[in-house]
Amino acid sequence: MNAISPRRVVIAGGGTAGWMAAAAISHTMGRTVELTLVESEAIGTIGVGESTIPPLAVYNRICQINEAEFMRATQATFKLGILFDGWKNGHDRYFHSFGLTGKDHWTAGFQHFWMHGLTKGHVQPYDDYCLELVAALEGKFAHLPEDRMNYAYQFDSGLYAKFLRARAEKDGARRVEGKIARVELDTESGDIAALTLESGERIEGDLFLDCTGFRALLIEQHLHAGFEDWTHWLPCDAAIAIQTENVGPPVPYTRAMAHDAGWQWRIPLQHRSGNGLVYCSRYLSRDDALARILGNLEGAPVTDPNFLRFAAGVRRHQWLRNCVAIGLSGGFMEPLESTSIHLIQRAVLRLIRMMPQGEISPRDIAEFNDQQMTDTVQIRDFLILHYKATERRDSPFWRYCASMPIPDSLAQKIELFRDTGRVFRKNEELFAENSWVQVMMGQGIMPESYHPIAGKLRDDELDNLLGGLRENVARTVATMPAHGAYIGQYCAATAPRG
Ligand SMILES: Cc1cc2nc3c(=O)[nH]c(=O)nc-3n(C[C@H](O)[C@H](O)[C@H](O)COP(=O)(O)OP(=O)(O)OC[C@H]3O[C@@H](n4cnc5c(N)ncnc54)[C@H](O)[C@@H]3O)c2cc1C
Repeated sequence: MNAISPRRVVIAGGGTAGWMAAAAISHTMGRTVELTLVESEAIGTIGVGESTIPPLAVYNRICQINEAEFMRATQATFKLGILFDGWKNGHDRYFHSFGLTGKDHWTAGFQHFWMHGLTKGHVQPYDDYCLELVAALEGKFAHLPEDRMNYAYQFDSGLYAKFLRARAEKDGARRVEGKIARVELDTESGDIAALTLESGERIEGDLFLDCTGFRALLIEQHLHAGFEDWTHWLPCDAAIAIQTENVGPPVPYTRAMAHDAGWQWRIPLQHRSGNGLVYCSRYLSRDDALARILGNLEGAPVTDPNFLRFAAGVRRHQWLRNCVAIGLSGGFMEPLESTSIHLIQRAVLRLIRMMPQGEISPRDIAEFNDQQMTDTVQIRDFLILHYKATERRDSPFWRYCASMPIPDSLAQKIELFRDTGRVFRKNEELFAENSWVQVMMGQGIMPESYHPIAGKLRDDELDNLLGGLRENVARTVATMPAHGAYIGQYCAATAPRG
């Protein structure tokens, strides 16, 4: 590998990944790097990816992005979680909220106390103890003192890239329009030396970020990083996306509605809704998938269907030589828990932390790849849980999911929860205990026992604890305005209809 000083950072691709990288690097590194982003309007972006999770607030803070300004510019709404329809048995629904449920004790999560309550006649649902969940289902939202509300955003992906582009360019990033025709490798080192555009322009760099989406033009087509296939665990491999007019005010959550060969999303923005049917092409034809989504839209379509194909899996090396894959070029897992933009964020911030001072260190590369893979595998297990833990046997797709072998790491997590009600969060795992508990119970896994500490509470203490928590949630939600009204006064969009 060359002894290089990575002053010249070149980003190939200007989708969400490219512009998130450009905005964060230019903002934090300033003129210490010379940043160039190449994108091609003729190729365009994938045009989906509109539902996020709460850690995006960290990215916004680091980039000093004003929330109301960002929401106005991207037609954004607030998101308090995901409503899952039909995942357990076809007729059920449960909510994975971003909030805490009840109150944890250092020895045991709230589910243990709730389960003890069940044995004492407190039959109220687990959901009633979560502020974000109750607010979401009542269509309410407000910022609360002490950041009590844990939330994310739903936004227009095209407008988001434009918003970030303006910021990155202001912070010194240079944008070059054009199609990359050639990726030039250094004959001695094998590193990437330059990108040549169709126009003939040649862009040299020290560090290259591959943000070219599923094409993975640099990391795979030229550096051959390799792909670890996870389609046996996450068999959906196609999607059809359609945007529609809104029907009624936007709700503060994303919907994930299971069907007999996958699921359908509905993401409400200020000016329209995003919809998509995710499916497994082994069990559903493209024509049937199209008919299915067209038959289950709330508002009139405002775009033609966007047909997408993908494979679940991950690039074996996210950072290889002087090239880092960020976004879809690094791998993909279906958007069931809105984790892709989060993985972009993690990669970008991680890269900034490891930004080489001079020579690229093989230790940095190894550490980056290791951390990125850990994040990805933990998310992968959480996604597989939604398919594996189901009582559905009504179609070949669900029968496959119910019978497929799963990774040991997930099997252990499920067994531990089923036996003891416990979930342990490993290191900086994205999904905390309450996320696992909500999804496991929502999918029908109920613990067979709970922590003995819960039984230590006297009956009156238990009554006070559970009653107090529920009342607090109900009282707080009662004071909150409707989500649509709150958006109207806080961040009504100024952006063009994307
Ligand atoms: C069906 C589906 C639904 C999704 N939903 C969500 C969601 O709700 N939440 C979430 O977090 N994520 C979601 N994702 C993932 C999300 O869309 C992506 O993570 C995100 O959009 C980043 O994409 P990208 O920037 O890597 O790629 P792209 O948007 O494809 O951008 C690639 C860029 O590279 C450029 N490019 C490619 N080749 C060349 C070339 N030869 N020369 C010049 N430029 C080139 C393109 O022009 C473009 O600018 C979803 C993905 C899919 C498939």
